Amino acid sequence: MNYTGRFAPSPTGPLHAGSLVAALASWLDARAHGGRWLVRIEDVDTPRCITGADRIILQQLQDCSLLPDAPPLWQSRRGAHYQQALEQLIALGLAYPCHCSRRDIENAMRERGQALERHGELVYPGTCRPAAPQRVAVPADRTPRVWRLRTDLCASRIDWHDRRLGHQRQDVEAAVGDFVLKRADGCFGYQLAVVVDDAAQGITDVVRGADLADNTARQIVLQRTLRLPTPRYLHTPLLLGPNGEKLSKQSGAQALDTSEPLTALNRAAEVLGLPVHTGGVARALETWVGLWPFSGALYNPSP
Ligand code: GLU
Repeated sequence: MNYTGRFAPSPTGPLHAGSLVAALASWLDARAHGGRWLVRIEDVDTPRCITGADRIILQQLQDCSLLPDAPPLWQSRRGAHYQQALEQLIALGLAYPCHCSRRDIENAMRERGQALERHGELVYPGTCRPAAPQRVAVPADRTPRVWRLRTDLCASRIDWHDRRLGHQRQDVEAAVGDFVLKRADGCFGYQLAVVVDDAAQGITDVVRGADLADNTARQIVLQRTLRLPTPRYLHTPLLLGPNGEKLSKQSGAQALDTSEPLTALNRAAEVLGLPVHTGGVARALETWVGLWPFSGALYNPSP
């Protein structure tokens, strides 16, 4: 079977118990299907990254015997590929420079009487969107703050299937708006980097935490617009903290202690509903296959 999976941590700190759930799930899914498993260090958002966290993450994975089949990929070394994808979108008249500050966006939305926020992010009201599809020239004296995708001109009503959550639907233009491809500080947006890299690494299966499910429709919009394949998706259950919230580095989750890897792996396996402690890896792989099976074919754009 053609299967390539990946674990794609952001080095904003060491792995915590919640990130191990995603790592273990993607590793198990690849191994259970006889596939390859890759690790990608998502350090594209450089201001949020912590020096040395990538090294710690790779060591934590190694301590847990989660070993990738190829050397890891660092997003910080792949800017030229993201720029190329952005230029492709600009040439198609599907990306445009935006000069709005957060205050500009808030004011424009207030004037329209629109709700301001969605998951802490503003739905862009389209102030800088050109009237017609066109390849936009950027005047030398006006460096764009950000580059955005024209969701109005992309096929943005997305139906997709998640192996655990089932059928999902999002109208990206209505729900998210013209999202950011490249930021004012020069960092590329997560959505663009992930889509370019999943395609470059030949990823057939994305297995990651359920908190990322909401990004999938945006990623599919980009895949279709750039004529890249769409992988299968599985969003796993999350490890919740004592207050019922998702564990995250931002909310101060502790670094994963890998001095006793079996304890850490068993805890992650439990979140996934696996009886690892009773049967070892072989039993876990057997149980895994029946848990969230594939359905539907992989999408590949015609050449
Ligand atoms: N880098 C993202 C994170 O650590 C994961 C991205 C993905 O798996 O698509 O939350």
